[in-house]
Amino acid sequence: MSELERSNDPEKKEQALAHGSEYALSYLDRTLAPAVRNILLTAADSFDGQNAAVAGPQEAIESLRTLLPAEATLTVRCTLPVDQHLPRWPGTLRTGPVMPLEQGLWPYDPEAAAMLAGRRRLIKREWLTSEQQEKDAAWLAQHDLIVESADSVDSRGRFALFAAADDETLQNAHAAEAALCASDTERESAAAWLGEALGYPSCCVNTFQRLGRRDDLTLAMELLPTVDASPASPLTQWLHGPLALISHTPCSLECGDSMALAKAVLQELERERPGFSARWEQLTRRIQLVDVHGNSFALRATGELSASVVVEDAVRFSLPSADSFSEVMESVPEFAGRTFHNVQGALVSDGFRAVVLADHRRAI
Ligand SMILES: [Zn+2]
Repeated sequence: MSELERSNDPEKKEQALAHGSEYALSYLDRTLAPAVRNILLTAADSFDGQNAAVAGPQEAIESLRTLLPAEATLTVRCTLPVDQHLPRWPGTLRTGPVMPLEQGLWPYDPEAAAMLAGRRRLIKREWLTSEQQEKDAAWLAQHDLIVESADSVDSRGRFALFAAADDETLQNAHAAEAALCASDTERESAAAWLGEALGYPSCCVNTFQRLGRRDDLTLAMELLPTVDASPASPLTQWLHGPLALISHTPCSLECGDSMALAKAVLQELERERPGFSARWEQLTRRIQLVDVHGNSFALRATGELSASVVVEDAVRFSLPSADSFSEVMESVPEFAGRTFHNVQGALVSDGFRAVVLADHRRAI
């Protein structure tokens, strides 16, 4: 199956098969058979954006269908706004001693918990400012871990660090990190080593390796199920950083190895702070979504996501400020009692629209 996407892109910023008029045309499936890919590229070459502008994406796709063999299936999954983004949650959500639950869940450290539970032997933190790096290093050192700065400093001048219980693992981690920039074969084995040391299931590492683009939005569109799928367990929730028990993107919300890992982490966090598990589940066993403006919500709701849902309670997540976690979660009383409808894969209600969705309402 090929999935085509048309989006508004007047300045041609998107990677796309083709740009026409003010639109970009792209597909999300990286594993197209070469013959299908060639047909799509031929079709895209003649794409001028005009039909789509007048007729809407579905009809534009229908006109492309005439160029494909009769047995081909062509589906529009959804149309993303060109400026859709997902928040980048800071590592500080994990740094520091736990608070009484009535003051909130944060910070909590699922990676230190996974280490204690014997589910990983390496921690890698990224996207840190130098101040955060210092604070996080001190926090991890309290867990009897050796902490070293990872050599990689990204283009925005953010830092990364590694922590492990033994020096050998740390040295291997530095070597694997360097090999990620080397030849294809070296890169693959380095990624496999890092994945294993970090406790990531091999099915998830392989899936991640297979995807060409690895930004969170691409991962969400590729790996989150469609709205007609039945609800998943809260254990594999990864869309919202503040609720995640796992640090990798699971190959699917039904990934058994990811669920087993998350369960072990949850048990460790519960042992550390009795009552954590119930509070976490109360927030995570919900519909998790990011609206078109990049705002993150968790909806407790009844009804089927494939039709419409009625919201009972809603919370919104925001980035923490430098020294406080009190703003990470706030209640959204205006959503209570509102009906949200599924319109072509998007959840829509009265000026609100979200296309990035994960239904985690199943029991653990
Ligand atoms: Zn997996």
